[in-house]
Amino acid sequence: MPAWRTISLWMDQLEETLTPRPSLEHDLDVDVLIIGAGYTGLWTAYYLKRHAPELSVAIVEAQTAGFGASGRNGGWLMGNLLGEDRLLADLSAEQRRVSFDLLHGIPDEVKRVIDREGIDCDYRKGGALYCAARYPEQEATMRSYLAKLYAQGLNDADYRWLSRGELAQQIRVAKPYGGIFSTHVATIHPAKLVRGLARAVERMGVQIFEQSPVIQWQPGGARTAKAQVRSRWVVPAVEGYANTLAPLGRYQLPVQSLIVATEPLSPTLWQAIGLSQGQAFSESSRQVTYGQRTADNRLVFGARGGYEFGGRLRENFDLTDSEVELRRYLLGELFPQLKNVQITHAWGGNLGMSRRFQPHMLCDRQHGIALAGGYGGEGVGASHLGGRTLADLILQRDTQEVKQPWVLTKGGLDALKAWEPEPCRWLGYNAIIRSFVYEDKTLANPDSPPWRRHFASRLAGFMEGFMQ
Ligand SMILES: Cc1cc2nc3c(=O)[nH]c(=O)nc-3n(C[C@H](O)[C@H](O)[C@H](O)COP(=O)(O)OP(=O)(O)OC[C@H]3O[C@@H](n4cnc5c(N)ncnc54)[C@H](O)[C@@H]3O)c2cc1C
Repeated sequence: MPAWRTISLWMDQLEETLTPRPSLEHDLDVDVLIIGAGYTGLWTAYYLKRHAPELSVAIVEAQTAGFGASGRNGGWLMGNLLGEDRLLADLSAEQRRVSFDLLHGIPDEVKRVIDREGIDCDYRKGGALYCAARYPEQEATMRSYLAKLYAQGLNDADYRWLSRGELAQQIRVAKPYGGIFSTHVATIHPAKLVRGLARAVERMGVQIFEQSPVIQWQPGGARTAKAQVRSRWVVPAVEGYANTLAPLGRYQLPVQSLIVATEPLSPTLWQAIGLSQGQAFSESSRQVTYGQRTADNRLVFGARGGYEFGGRLRENFDLTDSEVELRRYLLGELFPQLKNVQITHAWGGNLGMSRRFQPHMLCDRQHGIALAGGYGGEGVGASHLGGRTLADLILQRDTQEVKQPWVLTKGGLDALKAWEPEPCRWLGYNAIIRSFVYEDKTLANPDSPPWRRHFASRLAGFMEGFMQ
């Protein structure tokens, strides 16, 4: 059996045997073919069958359900989208409220489904703490971010400023400068969710074929090494693996996120750290960090990873010493008392980044193609919305989901912005990341003179401007 258990802490913790489902050995005719058994593919299948049980739906997966980012992520189930401020900027206040309500409702809708389907995935809606917790400049950045949220019509029922004292009541970091508490985030056990969803859609009549990579696709169907599938609709749901399905790799690049898990921590250590209500947390630097306390009392903590030249997929996620050390260092900055705890698991995965740095949910009725992706590291909730939206688009349901600014129904794949050719992408990505690393090192060093701190922040902010 392939070594799927080693993919992540989450896959390792599953009690099931991970026996592969049958692979696709014969030609197939279905209404909807979904490529990829991660959250996007499975949520699409779920809502299609819920609204139209008569549809025949098949999912063809290269490895096993949850092999991709869905079985590896940090478990933040967020009621928002990457780049939502830009996506919603041109809407009226009323429209924006509708969009926010839709986004904020994601964790609760997921909860309704997992309750209905009996999926136990350690769901806890404890909100999220965005902490200014490593250098003083973070406080000003977080305060101006909060002001932007409020200018868009949100209020303290959505996002609330926490003073140092208030922050310390929830999480005890070494350098608390303040932070933002969001109510719209839940945490989950990623692999239990994806595997539970796969079983749920099978019960609804969806066929899942595993170890069956699609090697070619086009409107009307796809081909694996052994079989041909004909279908009215094709839904490529491969996110970070877009370059396996040309031409999708032009629109979505694989970027890595890398993550570690500690051993289960003692009650005394948890007493010292806090996080007693299941809050997710991040320290708000451009390292894109995210953490959660797991149901078995570990601390799981991740940060942005790299990009490989030519959009090559990283396959080996045995992290290097320096990759583990960076995460250990960041964790130690927040919680010095954890410096010596054992890291039992270290892993990572590929996620999909669109050129506009915002997700899309696209439907091309003429060619029978529907796809969602570009979630850029905020895909646990977004993929749920993506699946729901694709089902509504395919079934022509007149819902709020299909009227959102991230929904593209004209122009087919051309509605997506293509990435620049290499070496521009690689150079651009690395230049931006280097400026972020320089900023982080400068600001984290208390001896950096004010002019250098200012310069480093301005430079990183300027470079970040290209990510739009
Ligand atoms: C380490 C890490 C941490 C993250 N943390 C968070 C987080 O805390 N919160 C959050 O919101 N988001 C997070 N994300 C992002 C989130 O996990 C993803 O956006 C989301 O899981 C994407 O789901 P998906 O179904 O679209 O893609 P995936 O889960 O990647 O599924 C794609 C599937 O397609 C299959 N596939 C690929 N090519 C083919 C082919 N040719 N034929 C057939 N099948 C194919 C793959 O095997 C895979 O199973 C994280 C991502 C990573 C990598």
